[in-house]
Amino acid sequence: MQIKTDYFKQTKTQYQASYNAIYKKILKYKRIAVFAHASPDYDALGTQMGLTTWLRDNFPEKEIMALGQNHVVFTPRLYPSLDVVSEEWLKKPFLAIVVDTGNADRVADQRFHYADFVIKIDHHPAVEQYGDLNLVNTSMCATSELIADFIVNCPRKANVLSKEAAVFLYTGIAGDSGRFQYSSTTPHTFMTAAMLMDTGIDLSRDVYLKMYGGTLNDLYVMSYILNHFSVTKNGVAYYVLSDEDLNKLNIPVERGKENVNLFAETDGINAWASITEDRPNKKWRVSLRSKEKSINGVAAHFHGGGHPQASGATLFSLDELPKLIEELDMLFAK
Ligand code: AMP
Repeated sequence: MQIKTDYFKQTKTQYQASYNAIYKKILKYKRIAVFAHASPDYDALGTQMGLTTWLRDNFPEKEIMALGQNHVVFTPRLYPSLDVVSEEWLKKPFLAIVVDTGNADRVADQRFHYADFVIKIDHHPAVEQYGDLNLVNTSMCATSELIADFIVNCPRKANVLSKEAAVFLYTGIAGDSGRFQYSSTTPHTFMTAAMLMDTGIDLSRDVYLKMYGGTLNDLYVMSYILNHFSVTKNGVAYYVLSDEDLNKLNIPVERGKENVNLFAETDGINAWASITEDRPNKKWRVSLRSKEKSINGVAAHFHGGGHPQASGATLFSLDELPKLIEELDMLFAK
């Protein structure tokens, strides 16, 4: 095979018209707010803060806000606190850019609906095209990768990419690709990572220690999960953390899913899940992962959705768990 050297060219031809339309809207509005999904993860916050920082660097005359939810662990360790704006701010004309969010209900701050114009930028399968302009590219492993591609293909005068913005985007890519190990990782992903690194990123200090550095308590949590998981006949591994377990382990509900990928590389395990009680909201949060088969169909049966190999869902009672596990298990019945 002939060696290809420019992986950015492919996206340039296919998406340049959308990139130009987005760029024109950015130029048009003096006030821009960037939104992401509720219960944000690395890609949601990495994209949100990466895009916000790039906008601020390149358009210092504009008012740029990042609105939504902070992360329970990674704010402020990795991401700055999101902005707080008054209703007054939102009543004047502004452009909303919503990133990494497949459907409108999942946007963390529903006031994006107040915007004059909404741009959706995402890499999830398009469940709902809620934007006035929608850019969806499911070939990108992370929305951060898509935003980086947009930035690379912007006119030269907006090509400033600070190390700060690049670190945020890098965390989104590292998070959603499982540090470049999932099949969603492509040559374009590596090209993007290289381009971001070129801003002067020290991977260990600026990125990985902040993302994955842990405590002794994290080891206890892991050991608890390894002692309490179940596996079905057809290779579905799962663990359940009740509110009592969370208290005992001294972790908040948001961290329940953190160990779901402990099962990712085990022979005979086809899919894996974490089920965490969110007692204040009277529900159980489910994170589903799979090696090959799509599990987002099952997630959709349980108030969820997401990617073929990484989805989220909700149970409103633990009585629904056997049905969820059975549906997952049946996917792998021979
Ligand atoms: P999680 O297990 O929460 O890390 O989610 C895995 C993937 O599924 C992420 O890309 C989420 O954005 C997506 N996801 C999680 N919950 C939902 C949902 N209720 N609807 C649509 N997508 C979801």
